[in-house]
Amino acid sequence: MENIAPQTTLIDLEYLGYPKVIASCLLEGEGRFALVDPGPASAVVTLRRKLDQIGLGVKGLDTIFLTHIHLDHAGVTGTLVKENPRIRVYVHERGAPHLIDPTKLLGSAQRLYGDKMERLWGEFLAVPAENVSALVGGERLSLGGRQIDVVYTPGHASHHVSYIDQATGMAFTGDTAGIRIANGKTILPLTPPPDIDLEILEKSWELIQERQPERLFLTHFGPADGVKQHFAELRDRMEEWSITVEDSLKNGQGDDVQRAARFEEQVTTSLKRSLPDREIKCYVKGGAVELSWYGLARYWRKRHRS
Ligand SMILES: [Zn+2]
Repeated sequence: MENIAPQTTLIDLEYLGYPKVIASCLLEGEGRFALVDPGPASAVVTLRRKLDQIGLGVKGLDTIFLTHIHLDHAGVTGTLVKENPRIRVYVHERGAPHLIDPTKLLGSAQRLYGDKMERLWGEFLAVPAENVSALVGGERLSLGGRQIDVVYTPGHASHHVSYIDQATGMAFTGDTAGIRIANGKTILPLTPPPDIDLEILEKSWELIQERQPERLFLTHFGPADGVKQHFAELRDRMEEWSITVEDSLKNGQGDDVQRAARFEEQVTTSLKRSLPDREIKCYVKGGAVELSWYGLARYWRKRHRS
């Protein structure tokens, strides 16, 4: 547990035993408590232990703010609500139906992760409809007296929102602003299937910057300073990745599995120039680099068909 601002605590979910891969954030406003993206069900033991350590427990939670419903961000939500039916869950209206009935979501995750699904993500329980509040963007929510603005930021996922906390000036950007471990220099995009759309994503980056946040909070991993520089770097890297993936489709050899593996290898090699091995693991695991190839490949194939 690390205090990153007044009444704002980073919780390292120690995903599969690895530190600095998935972060949740605990917010307090006048004795009311919220988690931003509580994480995957496979990390529930760590989450529960850390909430117990500060004497709050799952029972002490009032609210969950979801940036989107991907398993690494939202997977444990149903488990927490089952234990504490008082919890109110905020999610974009396009994500809400899949939280209430996760059949489709789990089907598409199953296709991506196969028999590793259970070990990686644990059990995704449905969230009762009466606990879910659907967002469209533009809302101002309140946690005690603490005001949290909702910005619709699609591109990584069509149902992605970001939360701007008025108390700290922090923007909780989920996966929209990429991955950057512990405020380091390296910033990578997060572009897994099936929703990735680069033009839409760029617009979302603009929308976040228009709100002039002082800092970002990334699920992978933690607070990020120098917002303008962050997005400039992210844009450069995205352009590079986008070109690399498009090229691999045009003249790359082998099938998609080989192309994706080669892409991960290329990214890992370039990370090795500036990062120690244990940090590279955080980027490759948290960033799911191989999946990002598939996301961008899907985007380019769709573009070339139309
Ligand atoms: Zn994520």
